[in-house]
Amino acid sequence: MDKTIIQKQYQKKIKLLNRYNQHYYDKNEPLIEDKKYDELKISILTLEKKYNFLKSKKSPSKIVGYKPSKHFKKSRHRVPMLSLANAFSEEDLLNFEKRILNFLFEKENFKLSYSAEPKIDGISASLTYKNGKFVKGLSRGDGTEGEDITSNLKTIKDIPQKIYNKNFPEEIDIRGEVFIQNSDFENFKDKFANPRNAASGSLRQKNPDDTSKIPLKFIAYTFGYEKKLNIYNQFDFLKSLNEWGFKTNPLNKLISGVKNLLLNYKEIEKKRAEIDFDIDGIVYKINDFQLQKRLGNVANAPRWAVAHKFSSNKAVSKIISIDIQIGRTGALTPVAKIKPINIGGVQVSNATLHNEDEILRKDIRVGDTVVVERAGDVIPHILAVDINKRPKKSIKFLFPKNCPSCGSITTKEYNEVTKKKDAVRRCTSEGYECEKISIEKLKHFVSKEAFNIDGLGKKIIENFWKLKLIRLPQDIFRLDYNKIENLEGWGKLSVENLKFSINEKKDISFERLIYALGIRHIGLENAKLLSKFFKTFSNFKELSNTNKYNDLLNVDKIGETQVNSIKSFFSNKINNEVINELSKELSIKNSLIEKKNGLLKNHTFMITGKLTGISRAEVKSLIEENSGSTVSTVTKKLDYLIIGDKPTKRKIETAKELKIKIIDQSKFLKMLNKTS
Ligand code: NAD
Repeated sequence: MDKTIIQKQYQKKIKLLNRYNQHYYDKNEPLIEDKKYDELKISILTLEKKYNFLKSKKSPSKIVGYKPSKHFKKSRHRVPMLSLANAFSEEDLLNFEKRILNFLFEKENFKLSYSAEPKIDGISASLTYKNGKFVKGLSRGDGTEGEDITSNLKTIKDIPQKIYNKNFPEEIDIRGEVFIQNSDFENFKDKFANPRNAASGSLRQKNPDDTSKIPLKFIAYTFGYEKKLNIYNQFDFLKSLNEWGFKTNPLNKLISGVKNLLLNYKEIEKKRAEIDFDIDGIVYKINDFQLQKRLGNVANAPRWAVAHKFSSNKAVSKIISIDIQIGRTGALTPVAKIKPINIGGVQVSNATLHNEDEILRKDIRVGDTVVVERAGDVIPHILAVDINKRPKKSIKFLFPKNCPSCGSITTKEYNEVTKKKDAVRRCTSEGYECEKISIEKLKHFVSKEAFNIDGLGKKIIENFWKLKLIRLPQDIFRLDYNKIENLEGWGKLSVENLKFSINEKKDISFERLIYALGIRHIGLENAKLLSKFFKTFSNFKELSNTNKYNDLLNVDKIGETQVNSIKSFFSNKINNEVINELSKELSIKNSLIEKKNGLLKNHTFMITGKLTGISRAEVKSLIEENSGSTVSTVTKKLDYLIIGDKPTKRKIETAKELKIKIIDQSKFLKMLNKTS
């Protein structure tokens, strides 16, 4: 490949990595998952290895963290705070040891002892003590300069303000990890993606009073600058830290031999869910300070230490309970509530069990120790059960034969296509007769692609259902606003807003109404086909009287499954009542006539971010009505990317790279000669 092309690709990756660093370290808002970040980092390092002309000051092989934020006073570390090299496999560990032996010019049988310390996933801090008094505390920053966060650190109870022990060095920087316990993180999980971000976000507050409100902890593990430290190895240093009044990790161990390191790693990996703080691997440090000194550092990490990382898509946890969720179409989905565990930077506390057969096949039980997998955007699931760890009194999980919500019989339907019974068990009640199904149906009714009612989110639907304010879709348009105004959390203004958004949505297109009804197997596309076929809502409504269900088979893409589903929908009394009552409340626009040569002919569009006053579904209809089309990924086939509020940055970047036109809502509407 051409040298300049390689150079360009390399620089682009470096730039991207630095952007990710800024968001992760400075803003505590990672843009991507750790696994993806690590892959990008490895791809840069691989390029550097392959092409020795590639060089950058911002290479991940040179930098540490991110420069200190402007919001804090900067201060120089007297001894730099470095990063750690990573190991992911046994082979990486063997290579690590081999490199050390080569460097020290020692034979294979030379015994190296390691201090093996679980790597707490928090943020590091350096605390300067002079004559036993805590005088200054810095964050790591870019390793050379940190942020002065002394006042914030002073709010942490684990950090001794004064040390009276006579063996404590005259002057020393004690370094360790500031973190939040998993049990405390439960109270902040709506604000932060994981405990590490919570710790970093809380510690680096401008106002120390805000830091003090968060129960941060500190565990010490190393030192920077020191004067008169008479200790000669890491493990003794850890013991002294305890004597001086610092907390250290109770799981630290002194180990020799890669085999034993691996045994310890596996043992701790299994215990992870039981430990009340997040660890993302184990740090191995050569125990002897003399050897550490000889080994020294590479650009941004010590040569004498390595972080043996846990898998970024698997982890061991424990099943606390198995809940059965009931979906809009009556499907019973078992979900395992597990002890929260961090998998690749994401805190996981639920894992799908798919269906009854999956539970039977794997014999999954409450109390089991399990391996949970979370890969990409796939919902976390149970990979395997550790039978050896099963509690003695454990009992088989019995999948309910009756719906846990309404008590109706549940069945597995016969699938005409596969000629097999479905794996999914369903509640046999007809929709609105089952509490859980009705709530899900109502949530669907107001959802984005359906009625898209602002201010009537899932939680409010649940609450209004409990209060008997909404039981059927038509109730949404007949709400008792006086009653709502007196409810906790509601006021005149919020009620006015709700009233406005509901009334605004009374004008609805025929296709979206069909979709909103939530008929099984009738998604947006099928709803569109049906609306074109029936043309008017009254034709659709008449279907149950005319009984001409088989006519529907003439509609391309509508098959027996859909027809049977529509039949069963109309055979239900409540559904008919819902349709009748809704037609009294709504103004239904008949089927759209798509223009053959509309203004958007031959143009493709994609939307990212939140639009104002118009839903995505409406924009999509507008596009199709005017002969344009929509696509779901940013590729060369896309002509226009419409951006709203908080768009996906990645999509914009790709669009820019592909030179795709990026327009906002008003520019889009202008294309249709509309203003709003
Ligand atoms: P690191 O996490 O790989 O290792 C160094 C850190 O380990 C130290 O600074 C210290 O805070 C911590 N540590 C915990 N216990 C320790 C112990 N006993 N001894 C020594 N150190 C200990 O360092 P890093 O370079 O800050 O971070 C890299 C990690 O951050 C990677 O896992 C990466 O995936 C993640 N990251 C993610 C993003 C993202 O956008 N998702 C961006 C940047 C970094």
